[in-house]
Amino acid sequence: MKKTKTDILILGSGIAGLSLAIKASSLGKVSVVTKAACSESNTRLAQGGIACVWDEQDNFLKHIEDTLTAGAGHCKREAVELMVKTAPQRIQELAELGVPFTSSGSKKFELGREGGHSHNRILHIDDQSGMAIENVLIEKARSITNIEFFEYHFAAGLLKDENNKCTGAVVLDTKNTEMHLFNSKVTVLATGGAGQVYEQTTNPLIATGDGYAMASLAGAKLKDMEFVQFHPTSLFHPQANGFLISEALRGFGAELVLPDGTMFMKKYHKLGSLAPRDIVSRSIFTEMKKHQIPCVYLDATSHKSEELLKKFPSIYKMCFQLGIDISEELIPVVPSAHYMCGGVLADLNGLTSIENLFAIGEVSCTGVHGANRLASNSLLEGLVFADQAFKYIRKNRTELFAVNASDPCIDYPYLDKQADKREIEYLKSDLRKMMWEKVGITRNTKELIVAKSIIEESENRIANWLSKNTLNEDLLSLRNMVITSKIIIESTLKRKESMGTHFIEEKKILYKNDQILA
Ligand SMILES: Cc1cc2nc3c(=O)[nH]c(=O)nc-3n(C[C@H](O)[C@H](O)[C@H](O)COP(=O)(O)OP(=O)(O)OC[C@H]3O[C@@H](n4cnc5c(N)ncnc54)[C@H](O)[C@@H]3O)c2cc1C
Repeated sequence: MKKTKTDILILGSGIAGLSLAIKASSLGKVSVVTKAACSESNTRLAQGGIACVWDEQDNFLKHIEDTLTAGAGHCKREAVELMVKTAPQRIQELAELGVPFTSSGSKKFELGREGGHSHNRILHIDDQSGMAIENVLIEKARSITNIEFFEYHFAAGLLKDENNKCTGAVVLDTKNTEMHLFNSKVTVLATGGAGQVYEQTTNPLIATGDGYAMASLAGAKLKDMEFVQFHPTSLFHPQANGFLISEALRGFGAELVLPDGTMFMKKYHKLGSLAPRDIVSRSIFTEMKKHQIPCVYLDATSHKSEELLKKFPSIYKMCFQLGIDISEELIPVVPSAHYMCGGVLADLNGLTSIENLFAIGEVSCTGVHGANRLASNSLLEGLVFADQAFKYIRKNRTELFAVNASDPCIDYPYLDKQADKREIEYLKSDLRKMMWEKVGITRNTKELIVAKSIIEESENRIANWLSKNTLNEDLLSLRNMVITSKIIIESTLKRKESMGTHFIEEKKILYKNDQILA
């Protein structure tokens, strides 16, 4: 077994992991462990951009209020204020690193608008914001000698000492099929979300909830896992792989319509197609059920093709490749699992309930998103809390680095690549279908109880399998998906009232105002 001693071990190479790695490299040796190629992440897929108060007409209070409103009164105000007020500094740092934010005319940065925002405040890089940010961060991190990358390294479990302090992680080197033990002074979960536990998702294959599972197995507290955000508009096409049609297109005037072109969103909310995401997703779902249709449509045909191509090049090109000219035809869309609002409980410094273990970015629950995330607040959360964690580690380095990073005595099973891939894929697909049907956009207690018993059966089956079979990435990611799903189901069952993204069918009233039909 390979062994690496490091000061700061970062699991994950999205915006949260990379931005912390770059800063933390001034404090010691940093190891970035990531399960696929470095760029493979949710971050890379982000289209819309990053929310930040930048315009003189806008102010912090408005961004704070918008975030709290979207979060359905469940956000931690302190965390929201911290995020909103420090956003301009973090954006400035990104710009200084070379992130080419789109500018407009005399204005330094062009500011887009997305659902739930009362002002234009979305900084973006055309419609490929995440890709541009990820590329700049990777380039910068790779240029720093204190940072070492371990690509195709799958973190399997966290290590703790006898004082319950985190001392590193057990990792599978999936290219060389060998175990790799990382002993670290500080360990950071930056493993992103869990969209892959659902049949319909905008998330890439890496998003199997590994961080939630590892944290839970290590005994860390998790919070708000019932709040799964479903993006209202992913492209409905067999070859689209959950490709996202950004809210920015609706911000630009595209309207949600039925197959005959009838608009329907004003029935559900005064902001129409730009209502908060949970309301739009549920409204679409209701219309699909009512009209027995597999999808609804986005109508962007009031714009010329040159305009759409310039503003939304990747959406335009993707649809065009699939035979849809969005300047002339309606775009078929369905809601899809998109973002985990809850996660590993972390304080304002990213510190979890386990000493020396931090959680930042989507895997964490800082309280910023409450019951529903406001659009384009998640890249920002990753940046802001990576910075918070950096400052905390810098300030408390002596104490944190005093952890005893000695080798634990664990007998690791032999790693075998040949374990049954097909059966694992089959189980994953069953799980994803079950989560979509029983723990999806609308929920009811009866179905949730059935889901719980199915997941417990899967858990037993996997435990049995793990005891007989050898460890490998496929089996571990299935285990993580099952553990994460179980946590989602259990949290969902505990939340009796509808709130934000969590909608219980048997209670008919979602919000007290009468703009919403439940
Ligand atoms: C299609 C799409 C569009 C989006 N658009 C926006 C937007 O416009 N604005 C916005 O603010 N947010 C957007 N989001 C959400 C946002 O992209 C994510 O919440 C954010 O990028 C999460 O960043 P992160 O660093 O926490 O995780 P990620 O970027 O997902 O990175 C997680 C990393 O952890 C690694 N990893 C996972 N498990 C393991 C393991 N076991 N071992 C080792 N490595 C592991 C992954 O390989 C990856 O490198 C969008 C999301 C999607 C899917």
